[in-house]
Amino acid sequence: MRETIKYLFDSQFRDWEMAAKNYAALKDVREKAFTVSDCTVRVQFNPARILSSAAKVDAKSIQERACFLCATNRPAEQEGISFLAKYTILINPFPIFPRHLTIPSVLHTPQRIEGRMTDMLELAEALDEYVIFYNGPRCGASAPDHMHFQAGNKGFLPIENNWQQNCSLLSETKRGLIWKISDNLRTGWIMEGTDKQDLSILFDTIYKRLDEIPTEDEPMMNLLAWFDKGKWIVVVLPRKKHRPDCFFTEGEEQLTISPASVDLGGVFITPLEKDFDKITGQIIAGILHEVCLDEAHIKNISNRIKELL
Ligand SMILES: [Zn+2]
Repeated sequence: MRETIKYLFDSQFRDWEMAAKNYAALKDVREKAFTVSDCTVRVQFNPARILSSAAKVDAKSIQERACFLCATNRPAEQEGISFLAKYTILINPFPIFPRHLTIPSVLHTPQRIEGRMTDMLELAEALDEYVIFYNGPRCGASAPDHMHFQAGNKGFLPIENNWQQNCSLLSETKRGLIWKISDNLRTGWIMEGTDKQDLSILFDTIYKRLDEIPTEDEPMMNLLAWFDKGKWIVVVLPRKKHRPDCFFTEGEEQLTISPASVDLGGVFITPLEKDFDKITGQIIAGILHEVCLDEAHIKNISNRIKELL
């Protein structure tokens, strides 16, 4: 698979000018870094991401646009690789990572994680040079009506290397370990294990507990997963809010920031330069506090997860 993906990028850069340009432009993006609650958070000024950050994801807007993840509406130049006969691996033409993939379902079906954790783990194993991520329909997915995962090359997201520093073991089960994130920045759990089925069952246990929080479609969450030395790591980041208040404010306080898996993983994306200049570690901490599920809820759910295992 590694060779196949490399070949896909090479051939797309040769045949698809817009994508090649956007990846080349990534080399010049402005970045800055903060240490917030002992965690590294980088900020990337990435103008091409305005399409995603400011995407209208209300039911009416979604219904009125042609779905850009459906094969019939995709750019003529875009090539894909079939995966499990259920998904197509595509290069993302508006990258955040130096290597960024979008992996839509072959079918136009709503963005839902239930029943798809095994697929996510299969992807992580097959694309072992990548971190796979999932943005819930109200947590940053710009196509909430079309199921898709994304993947970005390893070595980019701070959480990938520093997750163990700020975690406490919640439960050690025969199916795997569940850690509770305790970094004062984000909230959630991290699952660690060597068996896909076992990890899927552990995820279902967490998912069912999250279902107790009222939601319209599925419990709000972002997910990150990767495979390393025979082991999967899955980061579960439950959310209580899609976009922070500053997104909707007018004037000085306004920031076009729409946090999703990548931001929660430690790289904040600002499509507007004024926001990039303005943002501070304190603002980042405030936004994360506002959108992540609060600690009291997490503690409650953690206790119930423990009882079930
Ligand atoms: Zn579609």
